[in-house]
Amino acid sequence: MTQQKGVFERQITGLEVQAEAEQTVSADQERHRLLAGLPQLGRLLEQEGIQRLLSDYPRTWVSEALRELLADRRGRLKAGEEVEVWAVDSERWEERAREKLEERERPRLVRVINATGVVLHTNLGRAPLGRLACERLQELAGTYTNLEFDLQRRERGSRQSLLESALCAVTGAEAALVVNNNAAAVMLMLQAMSAGREVILSRGEMVEIGGSFRMPEVMEVAGVRLREVGTTNRTHLRDYEQAISEETGLLLKVHRSNFVIEGFVKEVEAEALVGLGHRRGVSVMVDQGSGMLMEPPAHWGERGWSVRALHRAGADVVTWSGDKLFGGPQCGVITGKASWIKKAAKLPIARALRVDKLTLAALEATVQVYAYGDDIAWRDIPVLSALSTDAEALYEQAEFWVQRWRAALKRGGWSLSWEKAEARVGGGSLPALTLPTARLCLGSAVHSVSLFEAALRTRTIPIIGLLERGCLWLDLRTWLSGDAEAVSCLFEEMAGSREDLRSHRE
Ligand SMILES: *Cc1c(COP(=O)(O)O)cnc(C)c1O
Repeated sequence: MTQQKGVFERQITGLEVQAEAEQTVSADQERHRLLAGLPQLGRLLEQEGIQRLLSDYPRTWVSEALRELLADRRGRLKAGEEVEVWAVDSERWEERAREKLEERERPRLVRVINATGVVLHTNLGRAPLGRLACERLQELAGTYTNLEFDLQRRERGSRQSLLESALCAVTGAEAALVVNNNAAAVMLMLQAMSAGREVILSRGEMVEIGGSFRMPEVMEVAGVRLREVGTTNRTHLRDYEQAISEETGLLLKVHRSNFVIEGFVKEVEAEALVGLGHRRGVSVMVDQGSGMLMEPPAHWGERGWSVRALHRAGADVVTWSGDKLFGGPQCGVITGKASWIKKAAKLPIARALRVDKLTLAALEATVQVYAYGDDIAWRDIPVLSALSTDAEALYEQAEFWVQRWRAALKRGGWSLSWEKAEARVGGGSLPALTLPTARLCLGSAVHSVSLFEAALRTRTIPIIGLLERGCLWLDLRTWLSGDAEAVSCLFEEMAGSREDLRSHRE
């Protein structure tokens, strides 16, 4: 048909039109030929290479990958793009499909290297667990456990009682309950201790922790009424005292985890608040937040805020996160008076907030480290050890890295140096504290540092550093064991051929 039309056009409109038409016709024909030449899915599935894929992956995955490849090529052909022709038995089908399948089975939650210097990085999963906790998880994850079985009495046990005495021993509390996170712990205890009644809270402690955890809203959800006292910067004991009435269910103190108020300020310390509460027959709860158990060094400015200090001061209930400075798994720990904790555990909402065996396993192992002694905890709990690492040791390490790699990296087009800097604790703990630290600095006159940084984020083990002043900074304070090897591998690659890293060039 088209051929005939071409002939007809030549007769009436001349040579140019005929040439153009023939060209269109032949491009069209070529496209049709290529489209028709795309193999059938069924035929592809019979090929030897694809059969190999089928022994590694589910058939539905392989079919989907091939269908995607076919659709992609069909689309590009139709759009007039130049597409390489692959015969049905071409190895390219297997190659490309395998890439897709590998991408598909790649875990989305992966280990990353925290080179930000932020010890408790909320986006990077807060506290990494210590060795003992990891071993316990490994041991228990794939087995049955006595989670709710009393091995002595051969009867139903309680998951909550498994850790209670250990938690009490390390905190000095009378009882303990573990829930899913500290937000849940606060909500549960407000409900248990003050449902339908007033909770007195200083205006200086009406915090937003992040996400949607804002104290006034939490109280609404928990079914308690907020009674604000004092001002943003100053709250006195008499402010609490004057607010106490028949309606009062609880005096609440909240750690200002992610901000500081400086200047003309006054707050009532937990001890004084507990004194007032007990004189007037009102319970006192402290949302401590970080789970710092022991008294930290004086320059942290946290005097009186450790979980132990709060229990010594007589707080009825203290709530804290398992995965902040405590250095355990994500959970919320409630420590305090047995009567309140018993009441909370019986509320229907407690069932919705309960933790699983893996959380309890990791928490128990972490608690055990504290039970061995404070010095052991400072050494073996990764966040505590990161916070207490001597700056001089980090400076020495940085100098070592620069000496070891500067020349090699230079051959690859990179400069390496280091600088002293300030690391932050992060993760809603110790907002005012910075720690002296050392950062490696990678710069380049030939490579794009920002493209390089992006490439680091998509490596098998992504490395998260800081982009600043046109350089990539890797803070040494937050490296964990094994991270140095991964960075060495990276430097090796960077030192290698410039060609390998051409993709980082703009
Ligand atoms: C972090 C924090 C919370 C929230 O704890 P999650 O474990 O993140 O739910 C609540 N209160 C304070 C004071 C905190 O520091």
